[in-house]
Amino acid sequence: MRAFCDYHIHSSLSLDGISALMEQVRASRAAGVAKICFTEHIDLDMPGGDFKVDFAEYARQIAEARAAFPGMFIGIGLELGDTTGTRKRVVALSNVLPLDYKLLSRHLVGGIDPYDADAFFAHRTRAQAAQEYLEAVWRSVVSFPDYDALAHLGYVFKFVQGKGFPPLGRADAPDVLEAILRHLVQNGKALEVNTSRWNAFGEGMPGREILQRYRELGGELVTLGSDAHEAGKVAQGFPQAAEQLKDLGFPYLATFEARRLVMEKL
Ligand SMILES: [Zn+2]
Ligand SMILES: [Zn+2]
Repeated sequence: MRAFCDYHIHSSLSLDGISALMEQVRASRAAGVAKICFTEHIDLDMPGGDFKVDFAEYARQIAEARAAFPGMFIGIGLELGDTTGTRKRVVALSNVLPLDYKLLSRHLVGGIDPYDADAFFAHRTRAQAAQEYLEAVWRSVVSFPDYDALAHLGYVFKFVQGKGFPPLGRADAPDVLEAILRHLVQNGKALEVNTSRWNAFGEGMPGREILQRYRELGGELVTLGSDAHEAGKVAQGFPQAAEQLKDLGFPYLATFEARRLVMEKL
């Protein structure tokens, strides 16, 4: 069995999740992933409303999955969407359940999710979008009090890549990007390689150039996350992403168990 670890998975417990939690576990096992962590959304004041989780049901389904698949590590985590205005409430919700993993995420930039690409890019050039997004990520990484890893750095272009928008690169906003990477390294925070667009674009978020810079700065903690909302997407792009990581000098994946860092050989 390949030692892949998928540390960014959603189930139908998330507002935008499609497959049931047990289905996601089965699909992970079939894909040869022995270690997974669910990261259901907590994201408040989103344009479509609040993303919250039924914590009691989440804990119950995780316990059920662990009992059904004793040979797998099945982690319970949260993807914590941060903004200045919602931070206090999100932090409170992040402390309700004992978690394996807290994944810090930034979706809203200036009150808009780049998922709504028409609205987001209507009044922004690429350079403005990158700068504004990275400044928002910077505020999150320095202000959010308690997290293990940063999700999908480069999300700002996720929904427009391939439409004249190459992935986020170092040239887009070098100073703030450098500040984010240095902060992660100096504070022992992991950087996620999100593979949700790998099959379409042959790169993760962040892409090779940014991962290389993180490594040059001394960063050693990388996680792999498919961001799968449905069973067919679990571990998508992992073999290629793993090769890229090894090539860049990351022999291990970071994983977390009860918030404790556990390195797994790639
Ligand atoms: Zn996300
Ligand atoms: Zn996600």
